[in-house]
Amino acid sequence: MKKIILLNLCLYLLLSVSFAQNKTIAIKCGQLLDIRSGQMLVNQVIIVKGNLVESIVSAASFKQKTDSLIDLSGYTVLPGLIDCHTHVLLQGDITSEDYDVQILKESVPYRTIRAVRSCRQSLMNGFTTIRDLGTEGAGYADVDLKKAINNGEMEGPRMFVSTLAINTTGHYAIRASEYAWELKMPKGLQEITGADEARKAVREQIEHGADWIKIYADRGYYKTADGGYRSLPNFTAEEINAIGDEVARSRKKLAAHAVTRDGILAAINAGVSSIEHGFGMDDECIRQMVTKNVYWCPTIYVNAFVAEGRANAGSPINKYFAQSEPELFKKAVNAGVKIAYGTDIGGYDWKEPQAKDFEYMVQYGLSPIQAIQTATINAADLLGQTDKIGEIKPGSFADIIAVKGDPTKEIKLLEDVKWVMKNGKLSKNIQ
Ligand SMILES: [Zn+2]
Repeated sequence: MKKIILLNLCLYLLLSVSFAQNKTIAIKCGQLLDIRSGQMLVNQVIIVKGNLVESIVSAASFKQKTDSLIDLSGYTVLPGLIDCHTHVLLQGDITSEDYDVQILKESVPYRTIRAVRSCRQSLMNGFTTIRDLGTEGAGYADVDLKKAINNGEMEGPRMFVSTLAINTTGHYAIRASEYAWELKMPKGLQEITGADEARKAVREQIEHGADWIKIYADRGYYKTADGGYRSLPNFTAEEINAIGDEVARSRKKLAAHAVTRDGILAAINAGVSSIEHGFGMDDECIRQMVTKNVYWCPTIYVNAFVAEGRANAGSPINKYFAQSEPELFKKAVNAGVKIAYGTDIGGYDWKEPQAKDFEYMVQYGLSPIQAIQTATINAADLLGQTDKIGEIKPGSFADIIAVKGDPTKEIKLLEDVKWVMKNGKLSKNIQ
């Protein structure tokens, strides 16, 4: 008897799940942005079945009976945006004190509670996928957040996580030199010395759920007499190449915080997929990024956001980066460096716009559609998710957003996303 009840219950659960999975929604779009061509298609209907896009048909030929209909005829519809550089477990750190306070005064559970809000904020901002690049001392809490989102315990974007991040001993906050030497300060990442420890760190992080490995390839940036930039490389060649080798053998990808040639060239040599920041890259870096197909996440707004505060605290380097950036960005794009949208939000306050980098990119010479492509098809390519996200097409995940007006004419509209669907589920409705 018990078995029969259990069987019936299983059958019921199976049926209800498959019903939910097969539910169809028609979304009537005023304008639908074809993300590859940049063309605006009018009067289109997207049919969503379960969590996937089933088809796109013209409103005139739309006859299908669906479970529900969403009317976005007054809006422009485009794929959910992708931010390839976030820190959901950080809440802004202009100065090193801001950073240390979060690590020292907030427990990991408290930081995770704040991160729940950051995840939700990202989704409300229209960013339906994020690559979170390091928990900054919050252990493997990013793996938990991803799990909680995937299990429906909380709202948030699709997450690709990199867990602890890796640097070499003595080269990252919290810095022992800033505190009483007899205290053992916690670190914002995993420190290694030597190739064996490097390999061990990669293996441990992947075992705990890292989708990506993040390294910090250089530090101590300075301006040279000829107007260029240099820095101190963090890893020996043996260390960084051991990391690259372990990452490749696990079929994972590597992202490097690298600002000048000292970090960038070493990271490229180790097989990195994306250079983060790269404010001080030179012609050789640009040339190698093009030939090795390495993406650049330029994180423009965060640099502008912290520049003044850091200059006031005695470190003007971010101000210099901001000055040389427009020319560098143009040069890199013209040379063929591929750009993936990455903000470093969390490095600046989550209350600030996540879509601000679009405006800078347009100001630096990209057309609005090219800027939008950095956060859709380019980002999907970097994440190895082409055809699944960053595009609305039959078979892609139903990650869809809508704005009022035409973002290919007015890029700032992406700061005001009105409607969000992630994985076929409505996350933000028109107010
Ligand atoms: Zn970062």
